[in-house]
Amino acid sequence: MDFALNEEQRSWQLKARKFAEQEIRPISLARDQIADAVATWDWDIIKKGSKLGFRTLGVPKAWGGPGADLVTQCLVMAELARGDSAISKAFSQNWKWSQLMAVVCTKDQQARFLKPFIADDTYMLGGARTEPNVGSDHRMTPNSDPKTGFRLKAERDGDHWILNGEKTFIANGSVGKLFFVSARTDFKVPVTEGSTEFIVPTDTPGFRIGKKFNKAGWRFYQNAELIFENARVPHSNIVGEVNGGWKARTSDPSQFNDLELAANAVGVCDTTVEEAMAWVKLRRAGGRPLADQQRVQLKLAEMHMLTESLRAYIMRTAWERDLACAGDKVQAASANAGLIMVYSQEVIQRVTALNRDLHALNGDSARGAMNASADKLERDAFIWTHLAGDSLSRIKTIRKVLR
Ligand SMILES: Cc1cc2nc3c(=O)[nH]c(=O)nc-3n(C[C@H](O)[C@H](O)[C@H](O)COP(=O)(O)OP(=O)(O)OC[C@H]3O[C@@H](n4cnc5c(N)ncnc54)[C@H](O)[C@@H]3O)c2cc1C
Repeated sequence: MDFALNEEQRSWQLKARKFAEQEIRPISLARDQIADAVATWDWDIIKKGSKLGFRTLGVPKAWGGPGADLVTQCLVMAELARGDSAISKAFSQNWKWSQLMAVVCTKDQQARFLKPFIADDTYMLGGARTEPNVGSDHRMTPNSDPKTGFRLKAERDGDHWILNGEKTFIANGSVGKLFFVSARTDFKVPVTEGSTEFIVPTDTPGFRIGKKFNKAGWRFYQNAELIFENARVPHSNIVGEVNGGWKARTSDPSQFNDLELAANAVGVCDTTVEEAMAWVKLRRAGGRPLADQQRVQLKLAEMHMLTESLRAYIMRTAWERDLACAGDKVQAASANAGLIMVYSQEVIQRVTALNRDLHALNGDSARGAMNASADKLERDAFIWTHLAGDSLSRIKTIRKVLR
């Protein structure tokens, strides 16, 4: 197989690497350590990255965007995550939604929402499904019971829909300008048949942001509640058809969500290995550098092996998904995109835990750490456990490949 990158892919990779080294890394740890969860956000870094194309990377060429393929998107995410995992995610969170706008939305919706998104460096997007009592259901299979799935209610009122309910833990929550919101439009049938996807800009009457969450990891990334109290959304803001929300959300062959998280994880692993290497050369034990101890070398070798195997798996999966997007039915049926997220969780958590182990008390920020970064990397890695459902749920949904 030829693993060589083409010129365009290489150029995006280098641009992202430079931005991560010169702009993201210098602010990463300081942002992480701000106690106020909302104050961790920094519009300057978003604006700078946006001007370089990192906010709009998923916008197709027809719309004046870079139209980057999935291999390129994974390379960029990994490089940005080397600087800071949460900042990388804040950029990539926009890619799938802008892609959806460009491919699935009507011309009228594109003119009203995609155009301003492209033009405004501070225009952030989000998608809302999770509710206080509905999280893993999105990833699990028992959708035939009408009682499962999200409950946010949408009722028709002439040319408008009235939305009532609440979404929780929604990414870009307190900074977003527009959300794709999943609502129930028929409670008598399963959520797969009775839900509709609405475009909800933040100036929608009856819509407001609620609680903003203070997380242990990914502190830069903003998660918040979205509250709908008789929110009036025009009928023209429906994506696809009424009761066609499930199809609108699941018809994308890129499986971007899983690739996105795996690519981000490998960037975190790269930084972790780099920092571990520097640390074991510096720290002495038993009269010599830690790096000279065989037990330490074995840990470093394991970290390196896991990181490289994850990278290879990501590149292979991104290649498969690019082909699937181009209509290749064999690649479209591959289970790798689901499995890669499971594997990335195992790798990122093992690699960051080994690094923290090598730092011992020097990696514990609660005790006045010499190296708070080891602690941050591990806290960021914990997030993978409950991002978009857990590993067991994911394996369950792709069990058909094992038959
Ligand atoms: C950083 C971050 C960003 C996020 N961003 C978004 C976003 O932008 N938009 C959005 O919609 N959501 C978002 N989420 C929410 C995320 O999708 C949910 O947290 C996730 O789906 C898990 O749901 P939950 O936390 O409610 O867990 P729960 O569903 O309450 O699960 C708790 C435990 O119970 C288990 N469990 C649940 N159901 C079953 C079952 N039927 N059988 C057996 N075991 C079960 C689970 O495996 C888990 O171990 C985000 C979460 C995080 C952490």
